[in-house]
Amino acid sequence: MNADFNDLLYVAHERRNLKLPGNSVTYLVDRNINYTNVCTINCQFCSFYRPPGHIETYTQTFEQISSKVRELEDIGGSRILMQGGVNPDLDLDWYIGLLTALKKRHPSISLDCFSPIEIEGIANVVGKSTREVLVELKRAGLHGLPGGGAEMLVDEIRTGVSPQKGASENWLRVMSEAQELGLVTSATNVIGLGESIGDRVEHLDKIRNLQDSACSSGLPGFTSFISWPVMLENNSLGRGNRGHNRYSLGANSTEYLRHVAVSRLYLDNIDHIQASWPTMGMEVAQLALFAGADDAGSTMMEENVVSASGTTKTGASIDELRTMIVSAGFIPVQRDSEYNTIYELPEPELRN
Ligand code: SF4
Repeated sequence: MNADFNDLLYVAHERRNLKLPGNSVTYLVDRNINYTNVCTINCQFCSFYRPPGHIETYTQTFEQISSKVRELEDIGGSRILMQGGVNPDLDLDWYIGLLTALKKRHPSISLDCFSPIEIEGIANVVGKSTREVLVELKRAGLHGLPGGGAEMLVDEIRTGVSPQKGASENWLRVMSEAQELGLVTSATNVIGLGESIGDRVEHLDKIRNLQDSACSSGLPGFTSFISWPVMLENNSLGRGNRGHNRYSLGANSTEYLRHVAVSRLYLDNIDHIQASWPTMGMEVAQLALFAGADDAGSTMMEENVVSASGTTKTGASIDELRTMIVSAGFIPVQRDSEYNTIYELPEPELRN
């Protein structure tokens, strides 16, 4: 907590260099798809969702989703990250039908879809266990589970901002089940929810323990970890606290960079730490590459969940990500969602 800022970033960057030698920074060409905004969970920091019956609700058709995937294929992308609300009108057959159709039409695209709370929502609708739901989704073509919804895995904080989201244990259990089934998973963390430094360490500790247990069972566990500060525009969490200063909400760039550095040092069993350009901007994301991060995130193409609460940039072109990496002094390497190299720019192009 009291470590000198420069020392902390230096040590985290050294640890990154030891773990991942070389001067490469990876990025992913992908697309976010937010297939439905109907949700019953009512998180206070969320401006994206609409309750069932609201006039602004939507659920995209298979054809609409497929045409978005086609646009991703057109730019050489390799995966979609599809997340939405907990929609009680969609049953397991709808999700199986969607994955089956996408896999058939877009066989080379990895389908990383549905965060743990969505899996729980599907399980509740059909009266099955989350494991049974995951087994059926995997059979239909699911490749991985995004790490969304972890926020702060400390129940006192979690129930304060998302009373209906359930205990931290649920997120960890669904992720563990996904890992056991061979699905690709990542871990996330939202800071600035009114938590203490100790709470942040507790979150990191739970991720690290789950990773230890996955690795000791011979599983790959989480591919990566990404954190960002809560956005406070346009949501009840920000509105309810404006002018009151009841809690210490949000986190500035320095605090964010410190957290990136601490996560690189503490999560010594997770290979990749991502910088978050959508919430912090490209310049701070570049600094995160000197605070232990080794990955610049992804193109996204569109983002509607976090951006509804205040970010302005919801997509980056491949050129923007490469330029961001090169101008920070690193070599850009396009990867897939399992961090396998897809494409490395030839030397002459790097200098242009
Ligand atoms: S963050 Fe997710 S679970 Fe929470 S209200 Fe928004 S869509 Fe629903």
